[in-house]
Amino acid sequence: MTDLEKFSPGVRRYIEAARRGQEDRDRYVREMVKKWKFDTIAVHGLYSVQEAIEKNQGAVIEPIFMSSSQAWRDADEMEAAFQYLIPGWAYSRIANPSTSYLEGTLALLETYGTDVEATCCATSSGMSAIFSATEPLLAIEPQQTGPWNFVSSCQIYGGTYMLFKIRHPQMGAECRWVADPTDMDEWKARIDNNTSFLFGELPSNPQQSFLDIKAVADLAHAHNIPLIIDSTIATPALLRPFAHGADIVVHSVTKTMTSSGFGIAGAVIAKKGMYYKSVPYEGQADYASFIKLLPNRDFGPNLSPFHAVLTLNDLRTLRSKIDYLSRNAQRVAEFLHDHPKVEKVMYLGLPDNPMHKLASRDMWLVDSEYDDVYRKRVNRYGHLLSFCVKGGHQPARRVLNALGRIMRATDLGRIKSLANIPAISTHQQQGEESREEAGIPDNLIRLCVGAEHPDDIIADLDQALAKA
Ligand SMILES: *Cc1c(COP(=O)(O)O)cnc(C)c1O
Repeated sequence: MTDLEKFSPGVRRYIEAARRGQEDRDRYVREMVKKWKFDTIAVHGLYSVQEAIEKNQGAVIEPIFMSSSQAWRDADEMEAAFQYLIPGWAYSRIANPSTSYLEGTLALLETYGTDVEATCCATSSGMSAIFSATEPLLAIEPQQTGPWNFVSSCQIYGGTYMLFKIRHPQMGAECRWVADPTDMDEWKARIDNNTSFLFGELPSNPQQSFLDIKAVADLAHAHNIPLIIDSTIATPALLRPFAHGADIVVHSVTKTMTSSGFGIAGAVIAKKGMYYKSVPYEGQADYASFIKLLPNRDFGPNLSPFHAVLTLNDLRTLRSKIDYLSRNAQRVAEFLHDHPKVEKVMYLGLPDNPMHKLASRDMWLVDSEYDDVYRKRVNRYGHLLSFCVKGGHQPARRVLNALGRIMRATDLGRIKSLANIPAISTHQQQGEESREEAGIPDNLIRLCVGAEHPDDIIADLDQALAKA
């Protein structure tokens, strides 16, 4: 009996047609898309000429399917779709064609230049992506008695900190913190038989810490568990954690990827074939599709199609934008570094940053060697930096208040320069003690450098620093 014989002839016909469609798509990816450079993938993703003409009335831009659900030809098609045997989308809480265009593009960009195959689940926010990626890893029974634990760098986004510190423990899983994510002995000391996954963020928001992905991934794999990396700040234009052994990459797509700032979005991109002890059996072959079609169908955090297309539009120019923004940030960091009112600057692009060497090993502008302007590989370090104002919290507040053009906002990744004081905003809930451990003093200003002319950004900072 072939695997299809258990279905009625009508259902079988749909499944066979779907398999042929999948083969065509796989061939298109293998023979065309995988041979393109990063920019071409960012511009087109999986949206082919054929798809535009045959399915979308020739629309050159991926259409926004503003429809809650999909209608079916007959009962057989409906039955096949709801068993996930054919690539329908059914209902926009589960899937939607516009969202799939974004997911396909993100999976391709994150695996660019590697032989890793990955899939993506887009979500309604970065936090829902981190929740979606981690919750299933705490859901099955551990092999050993006792509850799950997981090990995370403590230098992570404030919202992730609260998820790990408060929410996951409410479900019975303990978070164990690593204070210095470059210290491999610290990671080793926290792991035991009930550890479910390792988690790191790099470069971290706001203090710009870094870690050796390859070393931490090797450690995770030696314990038969996955490594999750929050790569929001770097984006695949500067760093692709899969190339260094990570298993799952999460993003606040809200940030640099959607630099226009039109809304909130997130993504989980996961390697295919994660046969680790904490991965639920149904999720081992294709974890991101699993969370999309099963847990997230039930939790309901998937992204709206409208937002998916807005994000897709921003992504098309990601590489050149990150290059420009990073160069701006480098100039601003150098200006701040030499300013008498500034105690210290945290930016990975500064040679005196303790993580500069490690970051320079892994953070490159993708395809710069094929760029007419560079013709060689060039390091870029992103557009987020932080600096501490001499004299403590009050002078830092005065500098923030005196900014004229740079907006005071907790956001980051924007095409517009934005600044905030994390100790009174993004990282306020986690308390002074844990901020101290994570390296976030109350005179630290986080600055996300935008695409304005750098002279204008520097002039605004200069006049504000004069009021410290
Ligand atoms: C903002 C942010 C998040 C959370 O993403 P939202 O889209 O705000 O939910 C997670 N990680 C990092 C590094 C972030 O900067």
